[in-house]
Amino acid sequence: MALPDIKTNPEELLKFHTILMKYAPNGYLPFYFVLEIGGKEPKAGISWKKNRKSFEQAIKLMEKGYNIGIAGTDNDALCIMDVDDMNQVPFDQIKPTLQITSRKRIGRHYYYFSLDGSAKKNIPTGDAGEVRSVWYYVLAPGSYVSCDAEDIEAMPEEERQYAGRYTITVERPLSEITYDEFPDVYKRRYEEKKRDDISKALRSVNKQIRKPISPARKEGKLMSALWKLDVGDVSGIGNTGGKRVPMPLEMHSSGSKTGHNCSVDNGKLTCWRHYIVHNAFSYLAVLAGILPCERAGKEHGSSYFGVDMCDGETVYKVWSYAKLHGFIPEDDPIPWSALAYYAISKKVCAKKDIVDGKIPKVFSIVALMIAKKEGLNFGRV
Ligand SMILES: [Zn+2]
Repeated sequence: MALPDIKTNPEELLKFHTILMKYAPNGYLPFYFVLEIGGKEPKAGISWKKNRKSFEQAIKLMEKGYNIGIAGTDNDALCIMDVDDMNQVPFDQIKPTLQITSRKRIGRHYYYFSLDGSAKKNIPTGDAGEVRSVWYYVLAPGSYVSCDAEDIEAMPEEERQYAGRYTITVERPLSEITYDEFPDVYKRRYEEKKRDDISKALRSVNKQIRKPISPARKEGKLMSALWKLDVGDVSGIGNTGGKRVPMPLEMHSSGSKTGHNCSVDNGKLTCWRHYIVHNAFSYLAVLAGILPCERAGKEHGSSYFGVDMCDGETVYKVWSYAKLHGFIPEDDPIPWSALAYYAISKKVCAKKDIVDGKIPKVFSIVALMIAKKEGLNFGRV
């Protein structure tokens, strides 16, 4: 009987583990867990966070062909910088440390320890990769995920022999890292995220004070179909039943393949690359170019979406996009907050005239007349 075609390399995992432990702070134990054979997804049927493996178990699994994941947790010091595209992060901003090259032989994983805790942050960026520190994972060295012809074509020629493999490429002691030592692109993204979080919190406080009704209920009898859209309608992906499928390319910047990092459950679409949940509105906001995936949706564990469904300008743009692309009918009644935005942009009224997103009748009549003159179908008279 022929031996199974095992492409994983347990020796590489052993080498990695030995270096990792040599420079680890006292008491550190890596969080290893099992992934699918040939895949990046956790083994089906059990939450990976509850499926921790010892190093010995991880090696045995890799001998059988399983890929192994490694994560930083909320009570260890591991910090992994996952640089997808070396062109986005200047080399001289990367603190030297143990370096792994990932399967496409273009991206790098840099392993650090954050002893003061300042670098224990998750920072997903649009296309410059991620900092993964708290319950975020990467594939450990020795893992294997095949590459297609296009991936191989894009590789530096000398790397093609390693296509699909995760290997140690710079064998150095693991360095300590602090937040200040991160490359600028991650610090910029983190500061931006902090600002987004503050504005989301302010929005929620304002809403609690004013006790508003939902955007959909504000519409009354003639309601825009925008509020009835399901994320399945706009993404074309039905319930995935716990499985992960490729993210539609339109969601993430083109040029990089998105892998199996999307799932749809209970009318919510999860992006596993950015750990973000989308509803139909935030999904459309990404497609309409208002905010990128990692800023538009709702972070895992958060209650607030990045896009503001009550902001007139945002609603106007999302509604226009949805109409233009046939997600809602051409004669769909414009949401009132969008009409209010339009009226202000046409100087029919001022911002102060709009209370709780409602536009007074006299201004809405004028705004609808102007829209008609401009050849726009606002679906209301
Ligand atoms: Zn995403």
